Amino acid sequence: MLSEAVKLKAQQLGFVVCGFSQATDTGEDAKFVEKWLAAGKHGNMSWMQRNKEKRYDPRQIVEDAKTLISVAYNYYTDEIPEKSSYYKLSKYACGKDYHYIIKQRLQQLLSFIEEKSGKRKARIFVDSAPLLERYHAKKSGLGFIGKNTCLINRTIGSFFFIGHIIIDIELKYNETVLANFCGSCTRCLDACPTAALKPFELDARKCISYITIEYHNSEISEYFKGKMQNYIFGCDICQDVCPWNRQIKKHNETLFSPSVQLQEMQKTDWEQLNRPFFKKLFKHTPIERAGFKQLQRNIRFCADNQ
Ligand code: SF4
Ligand code: SF4
Repeated sequence: MLSEAVKLKAQQLGFVVCGFSQATDTGEDAKFVEKWLAAGKHGNMSWMQRNKEKRYDPRQIVEDAKTLISVAYNYYTDEIPEKSSYYKLSKYACGKDYHYIIKQRLQQLLSFIEEKSGKRKARIFVDSAPLLERYHAKKSGLGFIGKNTCLINRTIGSFFFIGHIIIDIELKYNETVLANFCGSCTRCLDACPTAALKPFELDARKCISYITIEYHNSEISEYFKGKMQNYIFGCDICQDVCPWNRQIKKHNETLFSPSVQLQEMQKTDWEQLNRPFFKKLFKHTPIERAGFKQLQRNIRFCADNQ
């Protein structure tokens, strides 16, 4: 059966979970996003206001779309030790750029499907607008949405990338959309140093991840003074404290491992970082996409506001 063969192939390509859901509009989730946008909690991510028809209905992206194939790719690493003499990067940003790596794997998965079923109408997405990725991944059975707003899988936790293929072929849809498994836990809400989280809702404007990656102004607001916890790119705190991430395994993707140079960077090395070294150190990484100036701004802010 094709559905089982696709899941097996996905596993062979390194995806730790794969599931399918019917391509339909995003219903209640679209309403939640609209309310969130209206409250301005997306900050200056104005691209979220665009292409809404497509964002809320994958059938507007691929003609005759029937299915979303959702996959998860583990990026968990503990290769950069936490030391007070080190600045911190989000785990996902330590290795080579995941967009390229995962898109390539998804392309292989699509080629496999087309070998079996002929040429298809399809598109591949990895963290790229317009798609409510967590919504579709939840519907495909990859996990539940936690109070920290992350998609959490009860076996592999939440440190994984999500990828999608929207395709014009029917596969065996997931039948059980998981309810929330947070229970009475509030660890993520309590641990967030900037009070950016309410249960199931993030105020991006207060989030270290947003401010260090998506916020492109030359200055960081005073609100973040003394709250950065040494993060200069992204923030993992609300995932690190989550009990569902206690027993997870490190990724198997050599391209996601940080270079030896990166593993050994002391605060003083970061503070003296120049453009040529930045280019060398972060070639083809998510940090290269943010740019030297932005990283330098983040380092300066952390150094000045310990
Ligand atoms: S990423 Fe960091 S700042 Fe943002 S909500 Fe999570 S703990 Fe708070
Ligand atoms: S830390 Fe607790 S409340 Fe937060 S997402 Fe994890 S289980 Fe849910």
